[in-house]
Amino acid sequence: MTAPATPPQRRVDYLLIGGGLASATAAEEIRKRDASGSILIVASERHAPYHRPPLSKEYLRGEIEPDGTYGAGGVYVQLPPWYGEQRVETLQGAPVSRLDTAAKTATLANGEIIGYGKALIATGGRARALNIPGATLPGVMTLRTLDDATAIRERLATPGLRVVVIGSGFIGLEAASNALFKGAASVTIVDLVKRAWPGMLTDDLSAWLQGEFMARGASFYFDHAPSAFIAGPDGRVAAVRITASDGSGSPLDLPADLALVGVGIQLNTEVASASGINVDPRHGVMVDNHLHTSAPDVWAAGDIAAYPDPVMGRFHFEHWDNAISSGQTAAANMTGGDECYTHVPYFFSDQFDLALNMLGYPSPDAEVTIRSHMASHAFTAVFVRDGVIRAALMVNDDAQMDAWRDAIAAGAKAPDSETLASSDFDPATLTQG
Ligand SMILES: Cc1cc2nc3c(=O)[nH]c(=O)nc-3n(C[C@H](O)[C@H](O)[C@H](O)COP(=O)(O)OP(=O)(O)OC[C@H]3O[C@@H](n4cnc5c(N)ncnc54)[C@H](O)[C@@H]3O)c2cc1C
Repeated sequence: MTAPATPPQRRVDYLLIGGGLASATAAEEIRKRDASGSILIVASERHAPYHRPPLSKEYLRGEIEPDGTYGAGGVYVQLPPWYGEQRVETLQGAPVSRLDTAAKTATLANGEIIGYGKALIATGGRARALNIPGATLPGVMTLRTLDDATAIRERLATPGLRVVVIGSGFIGLEAASNALFKGAASVTIVDLVKRAWPGMLTDDLSAWLQGEFMARGASFYFDHAPSAFIAGPDGRVAAVRITASDGSGSPLDLPADLALVGVGIQLNTEVASASGINVDPRHGVMVDNHLHTSAPDVWAAGDIAAYPDPVMGRFHFEHWDNAISSGQTAAANMTGGDECYTHVPYFFSDQFDLALNMLGYPSPDAEVTIRSHMASHAFTAVFVRDGVIRAALMVNDDAQMDAWRDAIAAGAKAPDSETLASSDFDPATLTQG
């Protein structure tokens, strides 16, 4: 006989688990669709929901302070009065431990039990740590949260630092570019991979991106792994020891006053797993094309949601735009809608004076046509696979972004590469007629 469920101390109509962008967007959308339902966001962090992209950009450079909404000089999704006006309650510093999906209750780490009508799991991810000696030394830092970004920007305020960035993903590269902007004496990027973004870019595009960094003072050790962080006499990190991936040669100690670890995230799947909700080990909480999980009245959105993508199969996308769109679709369905989640993957990244916008499904085996010239610092690389437009990387060149998105969504057939490269060719014609 199973023990009767402990009665909840209170009940809300909509329980949003995770205080990030997906939850905050879902709250906005629920309120648009349901004027009176009670909404509660339960968050591990002790901040109101904020946008993470500025943390490695404007905020890191010290150009904005937290207290404003994103785009208006701050990082927050909404300012404090909005929550009162829209009757959206937040509980900060209060992680959820598990759901009882039969009794429809959530147990918080502090023991509180909250009943819900509909729940959203939007627990995102945390920075992956490196499990090597010295990983907890002062000066070894990761960049996921507002607190992380504050600590890094305080450190970067000291000019002349020797910075080692581990990981050449977009967050690592943004941090590297901004460390140089803040006057670092040296910035060295270390990665296990053999070239920049090898899963997405062709050799030529990788070489171009790496060249842009080297031209501005960064250096790279690709095909190398860190094996230890070495402490100096003051107990802070003083060097990063790296070794060639194949173990050849002697280890090399790179001097470092700041070692920034940007090696991806670990998805926060614990709540779903503890609640008996189906989780894909690589891609997070499994949802159907309505973002509904395997449990009744529980949806998932944002980085954590592993949904059926028409090109990638079951997949999750760790992108700002996906957190917003999936938060909106989940909210629509939580309030009685019947919306399929269809979304062309998109991310943006600012590195030095290069505004990168990537749409779709880039891959190194694609046939890539460059519109304009890479050397001009304003071009679009169009990725074609099997005769179909699959992706577009726009570098300081986003005027035709909507047309490329439509073409990718439609699986539009590509014209010959000469036509595609021509400035007279309008990508909007790909989906017309
Ligand atoms: C520095 C940085 C820069 C970025 N820049 C870009 C960019 O330029 N372009 C782009 O497209 N994307 C960018 N991203 C990615 C983008 O920010 C994420 O895709 C987005 O934040 C995902 O939102 P989310 O709400 O799904 O998850 P998160 O933002 O991870 O929020 C989830 C929240 O849930 C909390 N949580 C976890 N477990 C629990 C629990 N048990 N109970 C309660 N709360 C819990 C977490 O602490 C976290 O606060 C960037 C990310 C970072 C870190």
